[in-house]
Amino acid sequence: MDITIVGGGIIGLTSAWYLRADGHQVTLVDACDRVGQGASHANGGQLSYRYVAPLAEPGVLAKIPGWMLRSDAPIRFKPAFDSRQWSWIGQFLRACNGRDQAASIASLLPLSLYSRRLMDDLRKTTGFDFAWRRNGKLVLHRNPASFAAARRLLASSPGADGEQFALDVRACLDVEPALERMAPHLAGGIHTPSEEVGDCLALCQALEQGLRRGPGAVTFRMAERVERIELASGRYHALQTDHGRIRGDACVIANGADATSLLHSVGVRVPIYPVKGYSISAPLVAHREAPEISITDFQRKVVYARIGDHLRVAGMADIVGHDRSIQRARIDTLKRETAACFGMAADLAQAREWSGLRPATPTGMPIIGASKRTGIWLNLGHGALGFTLAAGSARVLADRVGGRTAAIPDAPFSPSS
Ligand SMILES: Cc1cc2nc3c(=O)[nH]c(=O)nc-3n(C[C@H](O)[C@H](O)[C@H](O)COP(=O)(O)OP(=O)(O)OC[C@H]3O[C@@H](n4cnc5c(N)ncnc54)[C@H](O)[C@@H]3O)c2cc1C
Repeated sequence: MDITIVGGGIIGLTSAWYLRADGHQVTLVDACDRVGQGASHANGGQLSYRYVAPLAEPGVLAKIPGWMLRSDAPIRFKPAFDSRQWSWIGQFLRACNGRDQAASIASLLPLSLYSRRLMDDLRKTTGFDFAWRRNGKLVLHRNPASFAAARRLLASSPGADGEQFALDVRACLDVEPALERMAPHLAGGIHTPSEEVGDCLALCQALEQGLRRGPGAVTFRMAERVERIELASGRYHALQTDHGRIRGDACVIANGADATSLLHSVGVRVPIYPVKGYSISAPLVAHREAPEISITDFQRKVVYARIGDHLRVAGMADIVGHDRSIQRARIDTLKRETAACFGMAADLAQAREWSGLRPATPTGMPIIGASKRTGIWLNLGHGALGFTLAAGSARVLADRVGGRTAAIPDAPFSPSS
């Protein structure tokens, strides 16, 4: 088939990878002049295969009143006259319960572990260099009650035995000596030695280079914005862009946080809303003070990872619409947290600052498969886990396009479910 992919982030590029491998003729179109300029640009870099709990968790509801009063709260909300925002928030709040959280984790875990396998193959067969390391991850809890809840979740997590461990503060320090400053404030942590880290942008660029080469090379149409999807007799016909028209047999919508409005015009509704986050990437200066392991500060919702010779610090979940501007106060909070936790490990004055929009669904479940319009396929809504879930999601999509059964249970990701 002749397939056009809208979106050159990690989801569009991995989709192109597996669709081409299946023998399709692929065109990829992106509004930016280079790949990986959206949420995939400077995310937390965590390949968090074992830790897939969605943002909607039972503890969130109790914390909201406190967060509303604090300017440095990890989650912020700016009300807008936008029914999509209110509808998303309503669905998100309803999903903040133990049953829905467990259901999301049960569906996401097979997808993430499948992604790990595929990413392993991809790395080994291509030799792509994207600062990948299997450095392990520690999710740290400052609050004894939240540590106890994390231990309970771990105990009920399928297959966690032997791959994830609950550690007291002493054991956390043994695993990561750079936690010395944080230790007095900690209750404990969940250690997953098998977790990985990498540079998502570097992987996007490597995928692009690979896709441009060889038989069946993918056509890239960069700096071209898709404005409309055209239907004929109710099924996919073409994409109307600001440069013309792209015809083909089918399209894959993988344009992240911008998908909702593009799809709305053809009557396809997806519960995706942007959840804005920030990152800083600061050159490492005192290597011994910087963590080797990826760290998640659970209460503050901040992640720390070494990516090459930089410390990447990412966090915040701001529900403020499509505003991509960098708010000084949010960056200052990340810098303050970094200095408090890791002292002078990185040169914060030289940090590159970034914000991005996570394409989030209320439950944290991505949407993968055929839309109700024949020929319009979706690979969307990966929220805070797009880098982690990209390979598996793209393979599932390609299998569905090819009429094959996916290697994992994929019904929970169906657009119609
Ligand atoms: C602060 C932060 C930290 C994160 N940390 C992690 C992490 O540690 N691990 C992890 O797994 N995930 C993480 N994520 C999530 C991850 O980055 C996203 O889920 C992922 O990048 C989404 O990829 P995407 O390809 O769907 O979207 P994007 O990367 O946003 O790509 C969408 C592309 O579509 C293009 N586009 C949009 N509209 C149009 C149009 N009309 N026409 C043409 N092109 C269009 C855009 O230009 C863009 O290139 C984080 C996200 C943020 C914001």
